[in-house]
Amino acid sequence: MPSLEEARRLILERAHTLGNESVELIDSMGLVTAKEIAAPWQMPMCDNSAMDGFAVRRADCQDQARLRITGFIPAGSLEEVQLDPGCAVKVMTGARIPAGCDAVVPYEHTEGRDEFVTIKAPVREHQHIRFAGSDLRCGEIVLPAGTVIRAPEISMMASFSMSHVTVFRRPRVAILSTGDELVELGEPVVPGRIADSNGVALAAMVKSSGAVVELLGIARDTHASHVAKMSLGLQADIFITSAGVSVGDRDLVREVLTEMGMEQVFYSIEARPGGPTTFGVKGDRLIFCLPGNPVASMIVFDELVKPAILKAMGYKRILPPVIRAVLQEDVAKKPGLAKFLRVRLEPGGERFLAYSSGAQTTGMLKTLARADGIAVLPSERSSYSAGDEVDVHLISDHVLRLEA
Ligand code: AMP
Ligand code: MG
Repeated sequence: MPSLEEARRLILERAHTLGNESVELIDSMGLVTAKEIAAPWQMPMCDNSAMDGFAVRRADCQDQARLRITGFIPAGSLEEVQLDPGCAVKVMTGARIPAGCDAVVPYEHTEGRDEFVTIKAPVREHQHIRFAGSDLRCGEIVLPAGTVIRAPEISMMASFSMSHVTVFRRPRVAILSTGDELVELGEPVVPGRIADSNGVALAAMVKSSGAVVELLGIARDTHASHVAKMSLGLQADIFITSAGVSVGDRDLVREVLTEMGMEQVFYSIEARPGGPTTFGVKGDRLIFCLPGNPVASMIVFDELVKPAILKAMGYKRILPPVIRAVLQEDVAKKPGLAKFLRVRLEPGGERFLAYSSGAQTTGMLKTLARADGIAVLPSERSSYSAGDEVDVHLISDHVLRLEA
């Protein structure tokens, strides 16, 4: 039975990128560049004004100089304009500055807009001019391969008029729920049955990680139903099942997947909740069999499955975002097993404070819904006390905005 860290290592050494694809910029957020991108031209392309004001020759601008206004260059104008000695040309922000100009005086430092302008403040050489190539040289690598695309990267590519970008292909991730007790969402639920919440919850997590989801619905607790659904799941890059992996009489998942060619890497981890987690491969495809319990399946997704998805997408930083926090209560745990403690976080001066978000029995879904993160208590110790520092994996980053 591998530890959490060992399980992660066994998974990650089998997770790889899946080739490239070209996507539209608007769809590229959170994906990773597969090829380096070099500036096709210098940026800015030409010298231009950083302010609305007047293009001048600095030597003409002794105090209170009065200059004749000989032209106007709005942003976008392609006209070639010459600035003559003793004159000024009105320029708008972003406009190409005229030949002969070596400074721009902002409106705020001038008086007069029509025939003459008076310069009211000292003028430094090159002030308020954005010089050609001052941001990027032509050919400079602006995004190395392996860059995670965020809004600034999209803006950078768009500034070079790119409409598409080559990224690591998004993995296709199939999700299958298993169990005779499950009811499709929207159908009536009667005592003894439960709605298939895992399917959509896991699908939403896969989708928000940037991968492509394929929801396969429910396999019933028969061999034939498992084979039919699993033959679809095994065509995806990553196949996630939930439930049917413990030792119940009807727990068919591992048995059927093994028959269908899965090579099992491990079938449980030294952590709770989420102990009965199986990981296997078939060729290059990764197979995760998560526990049926919703809390366990979601925690194991964040701890083990998501890092594999992110690695396949080309990410280098793949572990859950972590912050240190001070535990606010005593916690007993089994030695030899890591414990995932659902916690609420409050800002507490220099450190976050971690409070249990409720009863920690695995079945309590509301305790996870109320949590900001998962405190990961390593396997060695048998108890933690209020005041101990713990690592908390964030469920989302909203908690970091509390102090803003
Ligand atoms: P199992 O792993 O099959 O023993 O299931 C463990 C628990 O998870 C049981 O209480 C199941 O009813 C519950 N469960 C299994 N599958 C799902 C699902 N798709 N959605 C919500 N709960 C589930
Ligand atoms: Mg079951």
